[in-house]
Amino acid sequence: MSETKTYGFTTTILHGDRQKGIEHGSLHKPIHTSVAFGYADARQLAAVFQSKEPGFRYGRQGNPTISALEEKVNQMEQGVGTLCFATGMGAIGAVVQSLLRAGDHVVSSSFLFGNTNSLWQTAMSQGIGVSFVDATDVANVEAALTDNTRIVFVETIANPRTQVADLKRIGELCQQRGILYVVDNTMTTPYLFQPKNVGAGLVVNALTKSIGGHGNALGGSLTDTGAYDWARYPNIYENYKKNAAKNWGLAQIRAKGLRDFGASLAPDAAHHIAVGAETLALRMQRTTANALALAELLEKDERVAAVHYPGLPSHPQYAISKELFRAPGSLLSFELKDGLDCFDFLNRLKLAIPASNLGDNRTLIIPVAHTIFYEMGAQRRASMGIAESLIRVSVGIEDTDDLLDDFCCALEGC
Ligand SMILES: *Cc1c(COP(=O)(O)O)cnc(C)c1O
Repeated sequence: MSETKTYGFTTTILHGDRQKGIEHGSLHKPIHTSVAFGYADARQLAAVFQSKEPGFRYGRQGNPTISALEEKVNQMEQGVGTLCFATGMGAIGAVVQSLLRAGDHVVSSSFLFGNTNSLWQTAMSQGIGVSFVDATDVANVEAALTDNTRIVFVETIANPRTQVADLKRIGELCQQRGILYVVDNTMTTPYLFQPKNVGAGLVVNALTKSIGGHGNALGGSLTDTGAYDWARYPNIYENYKKNAAKNWGLAQIRAKGLRDFGASLAPDAAHHIAVGAETLALRMQRTTANALALAELLEKDERVAAVHYPGLPSHPQYAISKELFRAPGSLLSFELKDGLDCFDFLNRLKLAIPASNLGDNRTLIIPVAHTIFYEMGAQRRASMGIAESLIRVSVGIEDTDDLLDDFCCALEGC
């Protein structure tokens, strides 16, 4: 691969590793399991610890297999640096752990992955203020800002109700105010959307989901896009200000969020995710086409009360998702009309599997209020637009006709 030529998304992901050369001519980066790294010269060990020379220290802070995946995700997001974590929540937890202090304030979209919502509740109990707002309109974000607001946090397409944040205008607002804009890109993936393009400073990806894609490994990542000027961030410790300001954020997250917090990605999981990532674009083309076909089918069915999918013209953010995303994602949710038991419906499906993951090759389906959003209670569910009958579908790569038949039959009661 020549340095000057720009390649497409999949070519870059497939061949990126080899630019640096992989040991023994391996086509996959090998799984390195060693926890420690020995140096023949003890002075070199010290130099590595003092960041004067590149090198690995201890497995919790990274190893060659994990670095290779970090580089791959970084290329996908076109960032300046990426860190991997044990899970998506590990990555989001590292943001809280490494960048926020008691007395700080965060504005978060109220349309959130359930565990992220729970994490913000924990942060609140530790003295961090969190305002939840309807982030589909930048005016709500702006109204919630205070002098202590350090971070604005949104998901691209919210899981499970598919609200799309006012991504571009929130980015402009954050840039004007010098606030760090953190975007969880899990639902769109860097193939459909790069948050860097709307001014996000940090991008979260749950690698567990579509990037890994096969439901066989947990992982998460944080990418520094280079869009945020860390010299404007008040919480950087002197220790991490040794290099240029563009390096401060990840230096502090690596130390405070990864090293001290310890949610490190396992090397074999990094390998599974890297292999899965090779086909991200191909899988997303199929899953998004399937999702649109299924959303259209459900919307026409008189037994269905509502369908939430940003690819339907009836979706409130249809225009914005058309403008920003290559395709409107693989996740949809819908509500059955009163009188139809959602458990009976789920039990009639032969292909779609009742399970809580998403972004798998297989279509997965879950009754939201009874499972993943059960703990938060009816009141908070209502405020997030979660109907008690809401069913979430993570659409897989099955042949389209088979998938549509499965849902048709289950609706008809056969
Ligand atoms: C699943 C998910 C996460 C968390 O990822 P895990 O790897 O399961 O910890 C974070 N954000 C979103 C939007 C998700 O769907």
